[in-house]
Amino acid sequence: MTIRISQRHLKILETCPRQFEYTYCDRLTLPMNPTQQAKTQLGSDFHLLMHQRELGMPIEPILARSPQLNTWMQAMLQTAPALFETDDRTWRESEHVRTLEIDNYLFTAIYDLVILHPDRADIIDWKTYPLPKYKKDLDREWQTRLYLYLLAETSDYLPKQIKFTYWFIQSTPQPKSVTIDYTLKQHRQTQTDLGVLLAKLTHLLDAYHSHREPFQQVAASMGVCQNCTFAIRCNRDRPDLAATDPLTSFDLDLLPLLPIRSHSIADN
Ligand code: SF4
Repeated sequence: MTIRISQRHLKILETCPRQFEYTYCDRLTLPMNPTQQAKTQLGSDFHLLMHQRELGMPIEPILARSPQLNTWMQAMLQTAPALFETDDRTWRESEHVRTLEIDNYLFTAIYDLVILHPDRADIIDWKTYPLPKYKKDLDREWQTRLYLYLLAETSDYLPKQIKFTYWFIQSTPQPKSVTIDYTLKQHRQTQTDLGVLLAKLTHLLDAYHSHREPFQQVAASMGVCQNCTFAIRCNRDRPDLAATDPLTSFDLDLLPLLPIRSHSIADN
């Protein structure tokens, strides 16, 4: 059986294998608070708005209903008018899906917008929050890495012909963008890292399904548990735990690489 893998799977697996288990194997989810829910809904609405616009469907009724969406839309049109221009030599599609099968894993990416020029390809991603302080790390995010990798692997474009641009809609005084270039060296590194991560996932899934062996917890000293929704379940809800490194945690890199076998887990 093939397992679908998205950038979110990779991000969570890399952050904490136990969180991956709770989320995708055990299907444990916690309800969002109303504020988070409202933000998530507005973000989804903006993506839907941009999709409808790309499809040539009327968006005025949506803009009339939502002053916030209207403000964001106008800000984008004023800040980056060239992004919305079309011509006969480019092909563009929103909510563009690409997949790539490696062993029993099906990597899947849904691009907010892809613009293919004769000599280059642009990946566009909408973020409905301000430009974060950690922008220097965007090129290390699995969304960036996987989306660039999949486009390079499934098209005739060379890595150096592909760029990834994040647009942070809520930045002030106008939306801000960060563009990430791609290189053959980065492409090869992503390929290597994906192979290592998949081999580890295969091992963890095998142990989980064969012996109900839980996935490892991230080391408490990494400091990620306090912001995790499973902190109480993991007994990691005390700030002082971040200073210690319990024996139950160990470095995922120490796991042996095992052959890939078939498993089934839910996608997000
Ligand atoms: S609380 Fe920590 S160990 Fe538990 S799932 Fe979350 S990140 Fe992993």
